[in-house]
Amino acid sequence: MTIQWFPGHMTRARREIQEKLKLIDVVIELLDARLPLSSRNPMIDEILQGKPRMIVLNKADLADPAVTEKWVTYFKNKGILAFPVDAATGTRVQDIPAQAKVLFHDKIQKQISKGINPRAIRGLIVGIPNVGKSTLINKLAGKAIAATGDRPGVTKGQQWIKIGKEMELLDTPGILWPKFEDQEVGYRLAVTGAIKEQVIDIAEVAFYAVKYLTQYYWDTLQERFDLSKKPENFDTPDEVVEVMEEIGRKRGCIVSGGRVDLEKASGIILRELRAGKLGRISMEVPLSFML
Ligand code: GDP
Repeated sequence: MTIQWFPGHMTRARREIQEKLKLIDVVIELLDARLPLSSRNPMIDEILQGKPRMIVLNKADLADPAVTEKWVTYFKNKGILAFPVDAATGTRVQDIPAQAKVLFHDKIQKQISKGINPRAIRGLIVGIPNVGKSTLINKLAGKAIAATGDRPGVTKGQQWIKIGKEMELLDTPGILWPKFEDQEVGYRLAVTGAIKEQVIDIAEVAFYAVKYLTQYYWDTLQERFDLSKKPENFDTPDEVVEVMEEIGRKRGCIVSGGRVDLEKASGIILRELRAGKLGRISMEVPLSFML
């Protein structure tokens, strides 16, 4: 289910999150490890109003581990705790309650020293559609709880889910809108499947992906599709299209007259990339001046 985000939806989504913020101690901001900046809501700092938070880089199983480490450093240098997880398999998801405990260590100790029995730390998961919020909630809860829907404004009766003894989580995540204003961001989101292809032309999305892979992950691309030669200049559209055509020929996407069905080839490229068949690929790298 894709949301068409209009100003009214954004206002409502923002209001819903801010209502939930009153109930919680810590925000778990979920980003896609393959594109942490592009999968970040543009108004997140304003929306969170200084609430303590941690950044969780999800789908780390699909991202380039060396690049993910750079993102962890990038956020650390901004004073934000960040770490990778893989919500689908559950790898490192237990770092969330563990890190919440670290964040609230002083507060908890103070309560204990006053003889108060500290209550569980209350968390809220927020993020754009398809970043894995429901998958993460279910994994942390150890059972299927969150409906894998992404409609803002649909609030069920909220419940707390216990995550071990020291943390509880609101069962409904906060749904945020992605960045729209930058076309480059739109393509990156579309490559990962965060924006559905009905919105952007599939061949254009695949073109963007192939151009990027030619530039940064040529060996991987070449090996996966058994490609003959690297384009001399990935900035030349014709050369990128030639790579797409070769992929199409290798995968039997031929129409009458021997022409390559670029749309079909595009579908194959994007499906395999998203499924991790090309290996672990990040779509965004922090530049050295950002670190
Ligand atoms: P939500 O819209 O944020 O609630 O996202 P979902 O939980 O519905 O997840 C969107 C898609 O991403 C689903 O197909 C999930 O199976 C997939 N997904 C979620 N987490 C991970 C992960 O860590 N790794 C991989 N490979 N896929 C994931």
